[in-house]
Amino acid sequence: MEFLNWETCGQSQCFLNSYKPSSPVSGSCSLGRLSTYHVQARNADDISKTLNFVREHGIRVSIKNTGHDYFGRSSAANSLAIWTHNMKETKYHKTFQPQGCKTRYKNIGEVSAGIQGQEAWKFFEPLGMLVTVGAVGSVGIAGGFGQGGGHGPLGPAYGLMVDQAVEFEVVTADGTKRTINECSDKDLFWAMRGGGGGNYAVLTSYKFQLHPAVPLNVYSFQAHFPTPDGVLDITESKVHRDIIGALAANQTLFGQHGIAGYNFVYADHICSLQIMPSSDTEAIKAITSQWHDFLTDYPGLNITENTYYSFSTFSKWHRFTETPAISRNGPVGLGIIEASRFVPKDLFTSSEKIEQVVNAVVTAMQFSHTNRGGGGVQLYATGPLNHPDNSKTGSNPAWRDTLWHVVMGAAWTMDTPPHVRTQMQNTISASVQPFKALTPGGGCYMNEGDWTEDSWQQTFFGENYDQLLKVKNRYDPSGLFNCWKCVGWTGYDE
Ligand SMILES: Cc1cc2nc3c(=O)[nH]c(=O)nc-3n(C[C@H](O)[C@H](O)[C@H](O)COP(=O)(O)OP(=O)(O)OC[C@H]3O[C@@H](n4cnc5c(N)ncnc54)[C@H](O)[C@@H]3O)c2cc1C
Repeated sequence: MEFLNWETCGQSQCFLNSYKPSSPVSGSCSLGRLSTYHVQARNADDISKTLNFVREHGIRVSIKNTGHDYFGRSSAANSLAIWTHNMKETKYHKTFQPQGCKTRYKNIGEVSAGIQGQEAWKFFEPLGMLVTVGAVGSVGIAGGFGQGGGHGPLGPAYGLMVDQAVEFEVVTADGTKRTINECSDKDLFWAMRGGGGGNYAVLTSYKFQLHPAVPLNVYSFQAHFPTPDGVLDITESKVHRDIIGALAANQTLFGQHGIAGYNFVYADHICSLQIMPSSDTEAIKAITSQWHDFLTDYPGLNITENTYYSFSTFSKWHRFTETPAISRNGPVGLGIIEASRFVPKDLFTSSEKIEQVVNAVVTAMQFSHTNRGGGGVQLYATGPLNHPDNSKTGSNPAWRDTLWHVVMGAAWTMDTPPHVRTQMQNTISASVQPFKALTPGGGCYMNEGDWTEDSWQQTFFGENYDQLLKVKNRYDPSGLFNCWKCVGWTGYDE
């Protein structure tokens, strides 16, 4: 697993050395929550046979692609895992007609279950096509990302990954191979477009809309804040309030122009990237000019980066983002907790509302800062803002109104004592409270949420939960796919 906390069991003290996995750093190791056996699936037949086998023998099953899941949903103790990582086919269809449908699409990509983001863009880039991947190249396309949502630098321009889907090949719990789309198994297709990975069927092939390549134009800013006198209280910090407020005031404009944002704000510095996919490589300068001038003229900032770039290819953009470290793979082997909340666009429509948002951000940061959470906040403007129709996807409807997907998080190493880990977890969970108070009945992105979330059905799936459950029960009546905090999760003993 990407995060070692999913390889342990309860308060287990075993931690593996990620440089030398055969020797534990501490304690004595058992499998923890890892699956006992894995089937290294190569094709849909392998998956069909595995599902027939587990049904016949009453064995718990789990599905693992990259193991990146923040909830550890790709492993389950005492299970037989279907490992899809080596299903690595990629195809380009100049035109494509989903089976049984009248619509004919242009520029359709097809990836089998194990293809990762970086493999996809390396394949489609020479064909002059963009793929709506996320920030990090090692995340899979067809698993949790492509079934749970999938936001990224192309989100405001083209929508979520699930918005691009035109057809899936799947194997349902009864071992049947199916081609599903808007014309056949419509409900299942809807559910698997956003209702979460690991819930309804095993996906073997993902067919999706590509987009003719345009340059990725970027405004990149990084600065250290002036050193505060005495003890820093972020809620009282003018520089934090001013900068977060200025970003929020510009966010609607940026979003409307298809500009995505990755903004990381810490106690002592900020890293902010605005990304506009467009053949007009100068347009971003005019749209971000107020934000740029505000930052440039702000007194006392120690500015280390204040530059416009235009990247002719996605891979060049991606290589660039490895330095601000938004897109580096790993580090693998940490323990992690995240908590997040969608902040809807309505909260950016007046200075009073923006002040409430700013209050929530600095309160969350200060709480995290003083309680071992680290104090940083991630403000993602990478959602489907310009794609408001949710009728075709089972994704959390709250995504469609979202301007900021706010993430709080903390990571620990194997040396961190259990009571400190617990404190960090509690801090991160509680730190999103100011955003919850601002957005009653709202939600968050299930793939980057808090695994300790109590009202997870509403928070992760929103008003789609009941319908998703009906679809699940129809295609998986025995509850074979029963992953942690997934649709229809009924719990299990570790
Ligand atoms: C470093 C990092 C960066 C990230 N960046 C982004 C980002 O930019 N945007 C974003 O939207 N998300 C991002 N995420 C979150 C990511 O979307 C989730 O972690 C997602 O669950 C990963 O999916 P996976 O298939 O790669 O991982 P896995 O852990 O292997 O699987 C995740 C879930 O999908 C299920 N699953 C996997 N394959 C299949 C299949 N073939 N059929 C049915 N179910 C399947 C698993 O059972 C599990 O429930 C990031 C995560 C990490 C760790």
